[in-house]
Amino acid sequence: MSKGTTVRCQCPHTAHPPRLVVLTGGPGAGKTAVLEIVRRNFCEHIAVLPEAASIIFGGGFWRKDTGPARRAAQRAIYHVQREMERLVMEERQSAVALCDRGTLDGLAYWPDSEDQFWREVGTNRETELARYSAVIQLRTPTAGGGYNHENPIRIESHIQASELDEKILQAWEGHTHRLIVETTADFLAKAKHAVDLIRDEVPDCCKKHMVGDFKEQPPLGDRHVELESIPDS
Ligand SMILES: [Zn+2]
Ligand SMILES: [Zn+2]
Repeated sequence: MSKGTTVRCQCPHTAHPPRLVVLTGGPGAGKTAVLEIVRRNFCEHIAVLPEAASIIFGGGFWRKDTGPARRAAQRAIYHVQREMERLVMEERQSAVALCDRGTLDGLAYWPDSEDQFWREVGTNRETELARYSAVIQLRTPTAGGGYNHENPIRIESHIQASELDEKILQAWEGHTHRLIVETTADFLAKAKHAVDLIRDEVPDCCKKHMVGDFKEQPPLGDRHVELESIPDS
């Protein structure tokens, strides 16, 4: 198994009809670690899209707690996400574009009604759900799943994380191919479950050299993902 690089594909196809698959989850759910495993072990026809919120906030977009700022950020995130998706759909080089969150995740961070969100970005729930062929949600660990209860700030963070996890669950309600990955005591088992679900979405021609088993620790253990910051938007 090669390390740090995408595996070369043996499939004979130069073009694949892309499918959009969403990997989502609340803070500390392990999304970052799973995406890293996919990046290192799947063939070049599985594209991992960057997270739109990271592009926006990492690029310096104002991250403020006011209503106008929160709405502006979510609109910007929506449009960046849509353009990333359009890019892979038009390129036709990826069999699966694995999205680090999808457009409906915005609902979990939107300060007003769902209807208003759709009006603001000029679409509707049905259209957005229909674009994704699968949605995989990693659940945020419940209290006791590694959080430090002696630190009041961490407890507060944990309540926020659980609330976000629940809101994300509601945001994707009604998707016809939604897969929920519950937290297990062993993070590797959870990661393997998620990777298996992603593998199911990959076309047969690209399945040959997949992640066999988890002999090694994933590049980012759950210790790291637990320390992920809680988005305050
Ligand atoms: Zn391939
Ligand atoms: Zn292929």
